[in-house]
Amino acid sequence: LLEIPSLVSLLGAFALGLLVALLITLLIGPRGRWTTRATPEAVEALLARGASARQAGQLDEAIQHHTAALDVDEGHLGALFALAEDYQAAGQPAMVREHLRRILSRRPGEPRALTWLRDLTAAEGRWEEAKGIQEQLLRRAATPEARMPENALLSGIRYEAGKVAVAEGRTRDARRLFQEVIRDDPAFVPGYLGLGEALQKLGKRREAVQVWAEGLQRTSALPLLRRLEQNEREAGHPGEMIQLALAALARVPDDPTLTFYLGQVYLDLSMLDEATEQFERLAALAPEIGTFHAYLGSLLERRGKLTEALVEYRQALKIRGVFDLPHRCGECGNRFPGWVDRCERCGRWNSIQPVTCALPPLAPPPPPHGGRQP
Ligand SMILES: [Zn+2]
Repeated sequence: LLEIPSLVSLLGAFALGLLVALLITLLIGPRGRWTTRATPEAVEALLARGASARQAGQLDEAIQHHTAALDVDEGHLGALFALAEDYQAAGQPAMVREHLRRILSRRPGEPRALTWLRDLTAAEGRWEEAKGIQEQLLRRAATPEARMPENALLSGIRYEAGKVAVAEGRTRDARRLFQEVIRDDPAFVPGYLGLGEALQKLGKRREAVQVWAEGLQRTSALPLLRRLEQNEREAGHPGEMIQLALAALARVPDDPTLTFYLGQVYLDLSMLDEATEQFERLAALAPEIGTFHAYLGSLLERRGKLTEALVEYRQALKIRGVFDLPHRCGECGNRFPGWVDRCERCGRWNSIQPVTCALPPLAPPPPPHGGRQP
């Protein structure tokens, strides 16, 4: 008899427990319903508050809201991107990197995060790492149009990684990187220069000259001609330069840069008639080079005393920069006093060309008498 009431109370307690559990379920809902129904509004509200805080320049507050959004919905891509932006604005690249990595661990290859991480890594000069990221981006580019700019960037990034390897004494790594550059991008002039330097450091002088000559053959680019010239001077036979310049000109007959260069070589070797002939050709090819014209003008005026005029002219050539051809970035139009491997304004590599060369979007209209193309 004693046991019946305790059984009843036990059953009662059990029923009460069930009731409480049912009530809790009804009030709060299971976890699944909670996350799918109540969260989006909460996250959106927090993201909106964070965005306006950032806009007002209150970065700490923005970070708080965006972190709260992430607490509600762990791994929310919008919140992660928002936090990356906050930390970018706050000048904390390590935190930007951390959030981009979180995005990429949730969604491998996410293009915006990958591109951002690449730019961040490159800006920090971590070129080997940037190279890996850029190779991923290239693999993701589906069409030839999409691949082209990614390929160009990869060349530049590999080249910079090669320069770092040279600076750190990892010459064999550098050679491999520069070889990759010109294998995939035969028009990438800095790649030949870098590969030649690496080969020279490895004691392979002849191979270095071969690389520069090969690059010259493919690109007819002045920096390669100059590099070969320096080499010939060091070796004590500058006369070789005439052959190199003539061979380059044979491939690109009306190139003002190469004509200018050949004139300089003749002048250096005191072959005055030949030098004059090249400068006269240049006057017809590229009348827009102002500095050069001033000198040629005075040179021609003094034709009666040609030898003395040329001696003076040669002196002028020795003043660095005075007689170098002005250069311009083919991408953004930024001007440079001489050749550089990368444009400091737009960040492109291999885009700097002498102003005399045709740069379709920016070149001045051709002079009326210069109609060399049919
Ligand atoms: Zn540029």
